[in-house]
Parts: sequence; C-alpha cells; structure tokens
Amino acid sequence: QAKARGRNGYSFYMPSMTGEGVERLRLETYLRRSIEKNEIFLTYQPQVEIDTGRLIGVEALVRWNHPELGLVPPVRFIPLAEDTGFINQLGEWVLHEACRQMNRWQEAGLHVPKMAVNLSARQFERGGIVNLVADILADTGLAPQRLQLEVTESVIMNTGDAMVFINDLHAIGVALAIDDFGTGYSSLAYLKQLPVQTLKIDRSFIKDISTDANDEAIAIAIIQLGKSMNLSVIAEGVETKEQATFLLRHGCRLAQGYLYGKPLSPADLLARWHV
Ligand code: C2E
Ligand code: MG
Ligand code: MG
Ligand code: MG
Repeated sequence: QAKARGRNGYSFYMPSMTGEGVERLRLETYLRRSIEKNEIFLTYQPQVEIDTGRLIGVEALVRWNHPELGLVPPVRFIPLAEDTGFINQLGEWVLHEACRQMNRWQEAGLHVPKMAVNLSARQFERGGIVNLVADILADTGLAPQRLQLEVTESVIMNTGDAMVFINDLHAIGVALAIDDFGTGYSSLAYLKQLPVQTLKIDRSFIKDISTDANDEAIAIAIIQLGKSMNLSVIAEGVETKEQATFLLRHGCRLAQGYLYGKPLSPADLLARWHV
C-alpha cells in the first residue's frame, strides 16, 4: 500500500507484518520441519464402481497434523508449499509413501488395484519428476500401471514442459488423470494429444447435479466427451444416492465421494475393504 507509506519509507500499515503475514511466516517455518517431525501422513479415499461397489483404486490425500495448530487442511498448506518450493520435498515423500502403502496392503491381503497421487505444477518445473517416479517404482516394485498421477488442466496448459514430462511418464507406463476436470480451460485439441486415461469430473458440478440444469449439462457433456475419446470418467464428491443414480443413468460408472467413504487411514481402509 504505497499510499500509506510515510516519507521515510516506513509504512503505517505494512501488510506483511499484519497478523496474517506473521501467521503465514509461522506456518511456513513449521511446514519446513513437518516431514522430519513426522507430522505429515496420508489418508486414502476409495474410488468405486457405482453399480457393484467394487474398489477400483484409492486417492492419496496428504494431511498435516501440527502439535499446536492441530490438523491443517491441504487448502491452507499446499498453496504455501507451492509458493516456498517445499512442495518438491513434500511431493516426493507423498509419492514414495503412497507406493509403499500399496505393498503393505498387499501383504495384509488387500489388493488395491490403483493408487492415485496428486501432482503440483512445481513438481514439473525441474524435470526430475520422471526419474523420481521411475526410482520410486523401482524401489517399491509397484507396477507403473497401478500408479495414476492426477494433474489439473491448468498444470498441463500453463506449466512449461509439463506436456513433455507427461509424455515421458506415459512412456514409463504410469497412468494419468485430469483432476477437477471442467474447472480449468483445457483445449480439446490438447486433450486429444495427451496420453491421459481418466477424466475426474470436478466436485462442483456434482454437488447440485439433479437440481441445477447447467451443472447437469456440464456433467453429461464430460461423460460424453470421455466416452467418445475412450477415456474413463470418474465423478468426484459424490455424497448422495441420487447423484450416483444420476451418474450411472448417464453412463458414468465410477465415483469417489463421501457416499462411498471419506479419506481413511490405511488401517481403516483395510478394515472396510478387506474381504
Ligand atoms: P482433489 O485432488 O480434488 O481431492 C479431492 C478433495 O475433495 C479432497 O479434499 C477430498 O477429501 C474432498 N472430497 C472427496 N469426496 C468428497 C465429498 O463427497 N464431499 C466433499 N465436500 N469433499 C470431498 P482434501 O483432502 O482436503 O484435498 C484438497 C486438495 O488438496 C486436493 O483436491 C488436492 O488438490 C490437494 N492435495 C491433497 N493432497 C495432495 C498431495 O499429496 N499433493 C498435492 N500436490 N496436492 C494435494
Ligand atoms: Mg485429486
Ligand atoms: Mg479433484
Ligand atoms: Mg480439487
């Protein structure tokens, strides 16, 4: 706020020193130590086939439990981690842990077909992502086809070499999903060229699917698009039976949402899905 600045350059009101700025700095400092202090853990949300209830995969969702702050939601710390670059360390930890978890479930007698992991734009910046994924797959022995990386349209469209790395990741066999589909601006021409297997319909379109005509039209259009491009389509944020019925009626067979399960600890997922 230049206007508030005094002649000597001091501000009467310095945004960076307000409560919000201090809070952010504190969060940043804590976040940097979070992994080594074992405050970071993963939860896993089931992805199911609507008509059979069969488990087709899980999405790893990161959590941060700080002794003072309590559970900090990802919407608060992911953007911060992206700004500070900590996302690269965090993202590496998440990928490795998620792949290790597949082995633990397997040993406990639960076969989870697929592990979905979210990637941020900055993880594509340095080009190390392909080697990182390859190393983690080699270390854990997870078949590349069982790892699905989730990226948003904006990451694909606006991140320098993301397209190149996505093709490289495809070449080593990992699956790719477009997250929050419909909220960004992806060009359909690009979509055609991308080696993606899955579109995830954003939760915002599912929420009022049976009452809002626009949301209904968008959801149906995405389902059709997926069908004509031979992609699998999964709906995010499915909370009610009505939504599930609507989706199934319009040809979307896969869903993720509270109706089927909230993000769970490994033990809870095992207890719920082990037969
Ligand atoms: P996302 O990847 O789109 O994940 C789905 C979010 O929707 C999750 O929020 C999930 O808990 C929530 N959700 C799932 N089903 C329902 C439902 O039926 N109703 C409602 N109201 N919400 C539902 P969460 O775990 O808070 O994560 C938020 C976002 O943070 C994620 O959105 C993703 O963009 C980001 N995120 C989470 N974990 C990671 C990670 O390991 N790496 C990166 N880069 N981003 C992550
Ligand atoms: Mg996701
Ligand atoms: Mg999403
Ligand atoms: Mg999202």
